Amino acid sequence: MSREVLKQKIEFIKGVGPQKASLLNSEVGVYNLNDMLHYFPFRYEDRSKIKKLSDVNENSVEGVYLVTVTAKSTSGKFKFKSLKIKVKDPTGYAELVWMKGIEWVEDKIIIGKKYLIFGKPKIYRNKISFFHPETNEQNKVSLGIKPVYPTTEKLKRGFVNNRFFNKIIDLILVKTKSHIEETLSEKIIKKEKLISRSEAIQNIHLPKNEEMIRQSKKRLKFEELFFLQLQILQLKNKRLSAFPGYVFKKSKLLNTFYKKHLPFNLTEAQKKVIKECYEDMCSGKQMNRLVQGDVGSGKTIVAFMCMLFAIEDRSQIAFMAPTEVLAGQHFKSIKKQAEKLNVSVAVLTGSTKKKDRDVLLEKLMKGEINILIGTHALIEKRVQFKKLGLVIIDEQHKFGVAQRAKLWSKKEKYYPHILVMTATPIPRTLALTLYGDLDVSVIDELPSGRKKIITSHRNDNSRLKVFGFINKTINEGGQVYVVYPLIEGSEKKDHKDLMDGFESLKRYFPNTQIGVLHGRMKPENKDYEMKRFAEGKSKILVSTTVIEVGVDVPNASVIIIESAERFGLSQLHQLRGRVGRGEKQSYCILMTKYNLSQESKERVKAMVSSSDGFEIANIDLRLRGPGNMMGTKQSGLLELRFVNLAEDYDLIKKTRSVALSIIENDPKLIHLENKNISYHLNKSIKSNINWSRIS
Ligand code: ADP
Ligand code: MG
Repeated sequence: MSREVLKQKIEFIKGVGPQKASLLNSEVGVYNLNDMLHYFPFRYEDRSKIKKLSDVNENSVEGVYLVTVTAKSTSGKFKFKSLKIKVKDPTGYAELVWMKGIEWVEDKIIIGKKYLIFGKPKIYRNKISFFHPETNEQNKVSLGIKPVYPTTEKLKRGFVNNRFFNKIIDLILVKTKSHIEETLSEKIIKKEKLISRSEAIQNIHLPKNEEMIRQSKKRLKFEELFFLQLQILQLKNKRLSAFPGYVFKKSKLLNTFYKKHLPFNLTEAQKKVIKECYEDMCSGKQMNRLVQGDVGSGKTIVAFMCMLFAIEDRSQIAFMAPTEVLAGQHFKSIKKQAEKLNVSVAVLTGSTKKKDRDVLLEKLMKGEINILIGTHALIEKRVQFKKLGLVIIDEQHKFGVAQRAKLWSKKEKYYPHILVMTATPIPRTLALTLYGDLDVSVIDELPSGRKKIITSHRNDNSRLKVFGFINKTINEGGQVYVVYPLIEGSEKKDHKDLMDGFESLKRYFPNTQIGVLHGRMKPENKDYEMKRFAEGKSKILVSTTVIEVGVDVPNASVIIIESAERFGLSQLHQLRGRVGRGEKQSYCILMTKYNLSQESKERVKAMVSSSDGFEIANIDLRLRGPGNMMGTKQSGLLELRFVNLAEDYDLIKKTRSVALSIIENDPKLIHLENKNISYHLNKSIKSNINWSRIS
């Protein structure tokens, strides 16, 4: 019964009608009463106190005044007609002014009567005036806190304005109040000291007082996060029970490598992460682990050592990188280690020649290749493994969700373990929501001997000095990156800037080998330039962000980032990570224009003051919001209405633990006490996290 009421079409509410209903449908997706109840105000006006005219000053915000009308006059004609009404309260005088909609007001306002007006007072030459104030007869309105709803131009033109929302929602609340269903269990509500769902919805629209707004928001936030976490944990449970993984045994190969061939001592953090992965791979369940490690923390060797478990088991490994340059580099460094153990490694990218590819695919199917490294060419259908045991994805955020989905749905005969590596530290709050169904490992330590990168901020005035610094670096045997932005929408100009920069460096350093690298070049030319730089043949590499991820040239100790204000914070941090990989003191110079927006300033400041990827990620999240940050915006994956992921960490933790205890005690949600939860989860929530099982 009650659900029927909530499903009633909005059209039949008094004052709505078919036209407004169709506007509400198309503009804000509101169809029925339930939708309308979930159309929330974005702010509140405090009308709980009547203010005095004598208190008005330049800084006065909008407020309610109780005034008596003393005089009325109109002037001008037609379009230029205006209405002026003189009013007073016991403390002072004011004038109310209308230039539009005069016919609606003029006759209704009667001299000598009292009215409650609401508006923002202005002071001009010591006189107070209100422009188009809301005007109500004293006995016809209730004072209180009034919600303000989001509207659009189109809505307003159709008279679906704030007044409309207030009126309609009041009506709907009366009708539906007793039908708003609880979604949480009695137990949770009590334990977490929450108000009921019905109370929360009522008070979001018709708040009794400030405190009730706070309580309502708390309740709605809790609910939003709780159900998100519940879904994530259910997925995780499902994965664990549905996808048994290979059981890899202790690896002799690993021991041999560890004892005889390891090129350096592992950091404690690297050891810890390898152990965590190993435990997953022995557990009989599919591993689904995210390894986070700041740039330069040494993820590649961790990946390689994890591979050894699989190889011992005669399983093959797919190792995916986001770019050809990076795939090539991984191939080189993995091969160097693998050769010592007689393990066969191959690389497959979009530019692998057909003949080579055919041979390679043949070998792969026969199981003659142990490790296949590549770009997303690895996802193609024709790439068939004999026994794919482990998939490693490097710099995971560069892969679109859909691309990862493909890999997953290839439906191998076996379930490969999945290891995702990312150098963009994800703030813990996001990790728990975005990757909540993955297990997370963190390499929170850099190899010893690394010096801190010194970051500074310069603008064009100091360009000569910067050139001098480049000169000095090269004379001392170092190498320098110069990076230009290449941003969608302004490619042409950006490309020109890059080439201009390249030319001017060539003029300034006529005797220095300078390379250039950008997306328009053929892959083989890119590789050539990259190689030349990696081998120290070119001293300066002018480049777009193609070098952003993973590229490893330890001899390069200076990176100059041009138009740094145009890069995102995480990207800047990634770029900076290209230096500081060797023994030398490294420098990152952020070149910007002179006038910076507030946000750009904050980004630059964060870069100069911090080198901690996690701290930077948190600032980035605060500045940009989670959608932009994770590239999930387009996919609309994380549309949280109440929660601010940058701020609500405690609540995320809390709801996760509440959800966890429910999942542990009642995984299928069949206990009577969880019936609200189960009903809500199954019936009303559109699943928005199919993606999370993908990686
Ligand atoms: P990232 O985590 O950014 O992918 P890499 O795996 O490319 O980092 O490693 C960065 C550099 O540090 C490489 O040159 C690598 O050989 C080196 N490296 C990795 N681990 C260690 C270690 N434990 N001690 C010394 N150098 C290391
Ligand atoms: Mg890397």
